[in-house]
Amino acid sequence: MAVFTYKCPNCDGGLEFDAAKQKFVCEYCLSEFTMEELKAHFNEEELSAQAEADAKQEREHEHVHDGDDGDMLMYNCPSCGAEIVTDATTAASFCYYCHNPVVLSGRLAGEFRPDLVVPFTIEREEAEKRLIDWISTKKLAPSDFCGKENIEKMSGVYFPFFIVSQKINGHLNAEAHNVRTWISGDTEHTERTIYRVLREGGIVLKNITKNALNKEEKILVDNVLPFDINRAKPFSMAYLSGFFAEKRNLELDSFKEEIKAETMRYTEDLLRDTLGNYDELHAVHVETHVKAKKNQYSLMPVWVLTYKGKDKIYYYAMNGQTGRICGDVPISMKKLLIRFICVAAPIFAVLCILGGLLF
Ligand SMILES: [Zn+2]
Ligand SMILES: [Zn+2]
Repeated sequence: MAVFTYKCPNCDGGLEFDAAKQKFVCEYCLSEFTMEELKAHFNEEELSAQAEADAKQEREHEHVHDGDDGDMLMYNCPSCGAEIVTDATTAASFCYYCHNPVVLSGRLAGEFRPDLVVPFTIEREEAEKRLIDWISTKKLAPSDFCGKENIEKMSGVYFPFFIVSQKINGHLNAEAHNVRTWISGDTEHTERTIYRVLREGGIVLKNITKNALNKEEKILVDNVLPFDINRAKPFSMAYLSGFFAEKRNLELDSFKEEIKAETMRYTEDLLRDTLGNYDELHAVHVETHVKAKKNQYSLMPVWVLTYKGKDKIYYYAMNGQTGRICGDVPISMKKLLIRFICVAAPIFAVLCILGGLLF
């Protein structure tokens, strides 16, 4: 069984992580537990070993349960036995019937076990309030979009990211020109002094962050970066309890060129800053050599909301740690028409009065 629910030690209800309290709470008997208390009760190492074994069986399991749509996979809820339908990247979800949180431990094992997790610090209530405040500035948004029913559909999702840190040796080689002109009598003189400039230095680039899930929301999730990685915790599956989570479907190799270009750009900027004032720079050549690197796999918290408009689906994302929001808001044609009438009608009236005065 690759599905797991953290159950309350007092009443067996499903435990959820409470972002405001940074504790695990049982919504049935209202007990609260710290991470240390939970660790004492659930042997995470044993769970991980079990998860590794599950992951090995996963392929076979997926094959057996593949439906018409190859991306939909089914598991059984450990609390009520009902079927839980997930797609290929789901790592944590809820049972549709008993609403207990479930963690698909097999999806978080072996090479897919994250090193870090940035826990949610903005709880649902706070996230809803921030979203309502943000939407209230968008005057033409449809009324049902701002409605409670729609806002309540917002989900807390952990998205997979690669965190790359590198120690780099950077070299810059360029030709710098200083130009001086002056006039003496009828002649303009130009003096061009040419320097060969060389710079070399050690640079530490920390926490280059790459979204490792290629799904519809990718661009939006990228737009709510950055996260404060310094506040990340060593990964524990328990943090996912009560949220959705996704596993990566992109590997670090696919970001190789992007990361190289990024480190080159940072290195060049930093070395250029040390050059001092020259009038012109020519033939700038930059090289980077990676001396040491650390790659980590982390889950990051994002509140997401989708809204089905007439012609397309709108996506919203809010950073679950900083509250940064991104998304495009649908426009209500009804509200647009009312606004048009409010503006156009007085102008029409003024034109009529002017017309009346003239003729
Ligand atoms: Zn309980
Ligand atoms: Zn269930």
